[in-house]
Amino acid sequence: MKNIIIFGAPGSGKGTYSAAIVERFGMGHISTGDVLRGEIKQGTELGKIAKDYIDKGQLIPDQLMIDILALHYDSHPTEKGVIFDGFPRTIPQAEALKQMLAQRGHDLGMMIELVVDQDTLMKRLLRRAVEEGRADDNEETIRKRFEVYHSQTEPLSLWFAAQGIRHTFDWSICKTKEGMIEAIFREIERENGIKS
Ligand code: ATP
Ligand code: MG
Repeated sequence: MKNIIIFGAPGSGKGTYSAAIVERFGMGHISTGDVLRGEIKQGTELGKIAKDYIDKGQLIPDQLMIDILALHYDSHPTEKGVIFDGFPRTIPQAEALKQMLAQRGHDLGMMIELVVDQDTLMKRLLRRAVEEGRADDNEETIRKRFEVYHSQTEPLSLWFAAQGIRHTFDWSICKTKEGMIEAIFREIERENGIKS
């Protein structure tokens, strides 16, 4: 299986669709957000650094993030491919990922872009704040995360298009979670030459 980079704004469903892909295709899954929240919970040195950034809705510095990602990638079985969820979020992270994979004889694979309108994103994140109690899911921090997304992460969409590996899925077209999952599965199968 090709590697998958799942890409989209906060609340676009990266975690949800990653879980569905893992269940269907048995790939590995690295969520940098989950990794950082795990470090915070365990009270590690890295967790302390990460908490400051996350609580402000800011990104963790690139070099730190790149080192963490490489560590996790190397401790993962990679023969079935890996889903990168929440990474890369900046152009330097994307360049580093490409290089890190190339050094290991692997490819970026395919990028799956989730497009969701701003109102829907905000509603989902505010609901998640109640359901999951994530510290960074409050209105002020969410606004900051959107701002960071638009200025630092969204431009990466074009970077992936230039690599020829961008596949976009639009919530306004698919309309339901099941519709999105169906469309994403079909595209993954097509890319990997799997007959459904
Ligand atoms: P989603 O709702 O789709 O899961 P999200 O953007 O709300 O996405 P996470 O991906 O879990 O949430 O990230 C939470 C926070 O962790 C980010 O706001 C950022 O501070 C930090 N973080 C996660 N990944 C990275 C990364 N690749 N580079 C820098 N900071 C990161
Ligand atoms: Mg997530």
